[in-house]
Amino acid sequence: MTQTITVIRGDGIGPEIMDATLHVLDLMSLDLSYEYADAGLVALEKHGELLPAATMESIRRNRIALKSPLTTPVGEGFSSINVELRKRFDLYANVRPAKSFPNTKSRFPENVDIVTVRENTEGAYIGEGQSLSEDGETAVLQQKVTRRGSERIARYAFELARRTGRQKVTVVHKANILKSTSGLFLRTARMVAQEYPDIECNEMIVDNCCMQLVMKPEQFDVLVTTNLFGDIISDLCAGLVGGLGLAPGANIGTDAAIFEAVHGTAPDIAGQGKANPCALLLGAAQMLDHLGKVDEAGRLRAAIVQTLESRDSLTPDLGGDGNTMSFARAIGRRI
Ligand code: ATP
Repeated sequence: MTQTITVIRGDGIGPEIMDATLHVLDLMSLDLSYEYADAGLVALEKHGELLPAATMESIRRNRIALKSPLTTPVGEGFSSINVELRKRFDLYANVRPAKSFPNTKSRFPENVDIVTVRENTEGAYIGEGQSLSEDGETAVLQQKVTRRGSERIARYAFELARRTGRQKVTVVHKANILKSTSGLFLRTARMVAQEYPDIECNEMIVDNCCMQLVMKPEQFDVLVTTNLFGDIISDLCAGLVGGLGLAPGANIGTDAAIFEAVHGTAPDIAGQGKANPCALLLGAAQMLDHLGKVDEAGRLRAAIVQTLESRDSLTPDLGGDGNTMSFARAIGRRI
């Protein structure tokens, strides 16, 4: 059956990397159809809203969206459209793979293969309980962690490990200091771990985890953690393997899932054909996995690796002299 996906072309380099990504997907006979929807600055200009109701409806109907980066103009109601989408669709799992790729400017061109599973809806990012005293001298922020939220993210991490043949889940926390929030998260994750005797579970305090990631990243497999730690750690992991041009992310809920590149709209290179399309292509590979098209996702990743290995038409961020579309065509030739 044809699967319709909502396609959001986005702002800045968004349309360029989306065209490149769809070019490759179109070569794969995937039985996908695209429903285009606007969000971000382009939506504000066309429809007077950053997140039009028609876009929300399209995601709700199709349950799957592939999204390019969006600009959230200051003073237009949202602090971030991405955060708003996560909130409205309860996209509780942020899944960020970081894998070594050849011929990148990475410090770890091999042996890193980490998936960070970040709780996406709770913790320090609930947007409530933030206050600044009248004299501007004292700021307060509330964090919220629930057993339900911790349980579903831990379960997501262990299920992902089992489904994808991974061996180990590391629960990252700070329960020694943040005894209430991180403590509840850790206790709940331990409880969930008992249901997965086939998956090794270990625990690591977040500061030690950061040091270990930089010194010996090959020891890690799946990481699961709360919102703020996950935000920081997933970028750290992206940095280990060559930075933003190769970092995809998925935001997954029960009723919808949105797949994206982690990087922003890169206004400095927009419209110049210099953008590396790999992050969004890898986001599309995550989408194919999610749709059960696991072999196709593997083919797409293999084609990206082969193109990097042969240095065929790489974009300038990877030291090549290709452009967004010529890079995509080179990947397409290897599909
Ligand atoms: P935003 O405000 O949307 O977050 P930004 O420019 O502040 O945009 P990023 O878009 O993440 O943040 O870009 C950071 C840097 O990385 C920029 O110099 C940008 O050109 C570069 N960059 C980001 N994505 C890519 C990409 N896909 N290909 C090449 N360079 C990229």
